[in-house]
Amino acid sequence: MSTDQRHTGGQGERRVEVYPGKEAVAAFDPDLTFECVDGCTWCCHHGVLLYEQDLLELAGCAPLSASTTEFRGTDFVRKEEKSHEHTGPDGQACFFLREDGLCALHDEHDWKPARCSVFPLSVSVVDGDIHVSVRDSAREHCEGLNVTERRVIDHLDAFLPELLWELDDPETRREL
Ligand code: SF4
Ligand code: SF4
Repeated sequence: MSTDQRHTGGQGERRVEVYPGKEAVAAFDPDLTFECVDGCTWCCHHGVLLYEQDLLELAGCAPLSASTTEFRGTDFVRKEEKSHEHTGPDGQACFFLREDGLCALHDEHDWKPARCSVFPLSVSVVDGDIHVSVRDSAREHCEGLNVTERRVIDHLDAFLPELLWELDDPETRREL
């Protein structure tokens, strides 16, 4: 990823070239660090939105009829009641979250939906630019913020799949 980081007009915002010719506006503290924490599964207690490309790739890993659902014209990974401890307060979690706290897709297929990479960040579009910030819910629940030396702003390509720049609506507000 390019290390080119330029201040924009917004307070504390920096424009970052994430892929060649593809920029995002980072609207968070540039010193923010992140590393996912073993045993924390909070962001997998929900159904995750699937882009069309995800759906095609998921079809090669799992039966779509069992693992996905449609809500308001959008495809999601289903969330379901689990008998293990890695669930939200409603006893539910993502279809693919195993009892050992690992994602079956990631562990068995070395793949996961694009939206799973974005957490704990959120994406919005402002004046045609992709803006990236930290989800309010992540500030409360994600255990991986500021527990490492790995600066988020230096690794935005790990959070933002390149396909986001191809989508009509890359915003992350839609949830199951
Ligand atoms: S697909 Fe995997 S990484 Fe994504 S929410 Fe489900 S269990 Fe978590
Ligand atoms: S909430 Fe944060 S630390 Fe926990 S699994 Fe998700 S990304 Fe990792």
